[in-house]
Amino acid sequence: MVEHWIGLSNLPALGREFSFDDQQMWRDFWKEFHYDLEIVTPLLSTISVAAQPEGYLIQGRIRGVVKAMCHRCLEDALIVIDHDFDTFEAHDDVDIIEGEPTHLRNIDTGWELNAGGLLWEEFLLALPEKILCADTCLGLCPQCGKNRNMEQCACSNPDSQSPLARALQGVKIKTN
Ligand SMILES: [Zn+2]
Ligand SMILES: [Zn+2]
Repeated sequence: MVEHWIGLSNLPALGREFSFDDQQMWRDFWKEFHYDLEIVTPLLSTISVAAQPEGYLIQGRIRGVVKAMCHRCLEDALIVIDHDFDTFEAHDDVDIIEGEPTHLRNIDTGWELNAGGLLWEEFLLALPEKILCADTCLGLCPQCGKNRNMEQCACSNPDSQSPLARALQGVKIKTN
């Protein structure tokens, strides 16, 4: 897991904003977790951290454009990432939550936040569940494999048939 710890000691009362434009961090995450993504417009992130008595209040944003494969037609799909988030990291979670990722740690020099882990978690929330090149993507023909966005094929459209008609297709009735 790519980690990127930032020190949280001596934060101004109103908090401090941290910016991240290292694209390699994203590529490392994608490689580690097997996401087939490419950067189109660099991902820029900001995290504002304000100290509270019990922890840290965090507001952030991730913006950029990445490219993935459309689930239906297998062509390129652009995903615009414009994700705002708000979260609270409690001091207590560090001791209580075992086995679950917590983004805070307390070392000799004070509290630190794993900005990398937090940004990755938020990036996953920003990804659409189903990646499509367009909502209207027609996908590949299940019979001949042609991209139906590009050309019409001669296969019958299975959507226009009932499941029974589809099942009976090609079944010959004996007439002896
Ligand atoms: Zn598509
Ligand atoms: Zn076809």
